[in-house]
Amino acid sequence: MKVQYHYYPFPAFAIATKPTHSLPITLSSHSPPRSLFFFHNPNFLTGNSLFFRMQRFCSVSGMNKNKAMVERLQRFGVITSSKVAEVIETVDRALFVPDGAAPYDDSPMAIGYNATISAPHMHAMCLQLLEENLKPGMHALDVGSGTGYLTACFAMMVGPQGRAVGVEHIPELVSVSIENIQKSDAATLLKDGSLSIHAGDGRQGWPEFAPYDAIHVGAAAPEIPQPLIDQLKPGGRMVIPVGNVFQDLKVVDKNSDGSVSVRTETSVRYVPLTSRESQLRGY
Ligand code: SAH
Repeated sequence: MKVQYHYYPFPAFAIATKPTHSLPITLSSHSPPRSLFFFHNPNFLTGNSLFFRMQRFCSVSGMNKNKAMVERLQRFGVITSSKVAEVIETVDRALFVPDGAAPYDDSPMAIGYNATISAPHMHAMCLQLLEENLKPGMHALDVGSGTGYLTACFAMMVGPQGRAVGVEHIPELVSVSIENIQKSDAATLLKDGSLSIHAGDGRQGWPEFAPYDAIHVGAAAPEIPQPLIDQLKPGGRMVIPVGNVFQDLKVVDKNSDGSVSVRTETSVRYVPLTSRESQLRGY
């Protein structure tokens, strides 16, 4: 396997530090150059129709780039599940990254408040690790939901009969994530109430909708928080980065007798799961 080196200009990551693939950092676009659009479009400068055509062109080209990102992750063996490919294709990443960021690059991006949106390969890896616990009707908890991207993916997988719950301790990120989701294909699930994002300390989980079939933690904990183990259903699975400087992505399975089995999936680098105060001071 080819080793890939990333350069990240900020201190917080959410990447696999042992690369699982050799994706180049910038994904190419397969959409036509914009300049050609103007010259080849006979309705150029015909009032509102131009606006609607532009809007459709932009969103179609965004979705094409999102699809190209999925295809690349498949080609490099990161995405092997067709269900996960379908969900990542449906939830356009561009709706969740800050303006000006390159949404389809395979790297984490700063989202403010000393937090990041995880890299696409990490989102894909976590979705695949949790796939069997994200079947329609199941309950999923996303701790440190940040932009809301992964919570939206969970909601699409568990569907309207299931429950996808995000917990984030920066209230401003909670508001932004709700706005992001409202623009996405998961908007109806948010409206129905099967998808919800809450402000709170995710180390306590979210007991209201427990027990959970799937728990994802998007920030590195010094150790696995007991409330999260307690809120995992027998047969449930939690994916959580654990550690400080050196971190491992742990897969925690709760057995039917309530005991837990823990294994290490890979080495990773995430922002810490901490208090709001220490995050805002820079940890
Ligand atoms: N998975 C998200 C965000 C990852 S960054 C995404 O990809 O968009 C980690 C997130 O965890 C940040 O938004 C940070 O604010 C949040 N976080 C850190 N400690 C937390 C805690 N104790 N409770 C809730 N959220 C926390």
